Amino acid sequence: MIKPKLLEQFLVEPGTTVNLKHFATDWTETEAARELGKDVTKERASEILAESHKRLDAAQERLYASDTHSVLLIFQAMDAAGKDGTIRHVMSGVNPQGCQVYSFKKPSTEELDHNFLWRYMKALPERGRIGIFNRSYYEDVLVVKVHPEWLGPGQPTHPDAKFWEKRFEDINNFEKHLTRNGTLILKFFLHLSKGEQKRRFLERLNNPEKHWKFSEADMAEREHWKDYQKAFEEALSATSTKRAPWHVIPADRKYAAHALVADTVTTAILNLDLEYPKVSPEKMVKLEEARARLENKDPADSVEPPPA
Ligand code: AMP
Ligand code: MG
Repeated sequence: MIKPKLLEQFLVEPGTTVNLKHFATDWTETEAARELGKDVTKERASEILAESHKRLDAAQERLYASDTHSVLLIFQAMDAAGKDGTIRHVMSGVNPQGCQVYSFKKPSTEELDHNFLWRYMKALPERGRIGIFNRSYYEDVLVVKVHPEWLGPGQPTHPDAKFWEKRFEDINNFEKHLTRNGTLILKFFLHLSKGEQKRRFLERLNNPEKHWKFSEADMAEREHWKDYQKAFEEALSATSTKRAPWHVIPADRKYAAHALVADTVTTAILNLDLEYPKVSPEKMVKLEEARARLENKDPADSVEPPPA
């Protein structure tokens, strides 16, 4: 487990103005990594990830049993930052029945004909479950801020600052509504450097098994790197709240991103202090009756011995 104090440095303090240059993309340069010591290190990160798997599996079972809360994990990032891999690694220890992942793509015509939160509302996790948004309503203040022409029909062609402020307000109110109704929300921005994105794109081009992952559109978006970083800074500044905080996770080293996200998620769920439901005295009597029957004290429940 990473000390909560060390995890705090990845948190966007509510009400602050984010400058992404002040957040590390390489975890070995962070205070947390230095404190973890010796070889800062893949090995230590994989221990943390393994520990988290056990704790997360137990936390998830409690979440399911208590049926009072749901968990919503939001992942946003530039292309090739490792959203898919992080989700796969972090959730690999968890009972698949207790979680669900939605990957949001370009909205359909039907989706564009509704309010911008509509398609996300339909995908929210029910109580007892962990829901993961691989991209989310934050795309509606990120990609469409860089490309307002993708906002869809009935929307302004040149949205002004007020337009985006209203969307931030809608998002904050939406998240307030969700948390008031028992949803724990954690948001992760996987912070990748431009150099590392280049290396990962080249790896996709050089490895035939990774060709499918490469899209020309990703190259086009890379040209807008600065606009995206600015849009991220504005979104993180406006929407990191105590109830639904943003974490800026250094993503240049995949193993570190996996360990940091796993630890943050696990610790937050355990901090909910969920209890297994208490059994009523009437139910206790029923349980005892069932035990007596199964232990064959009741002839009505005797079992034929298996054939020899
Ligand atoms: P991928 O995650 O690589 O499969 O790509 C999904 C694509 O859908 C990305 O290019 C996103 O920017 C795009 N996308 C997701 N949500 C929206 C949205 N609300 N408006 C426009 N494009 C979106
Ligand atoms: Mg892609």
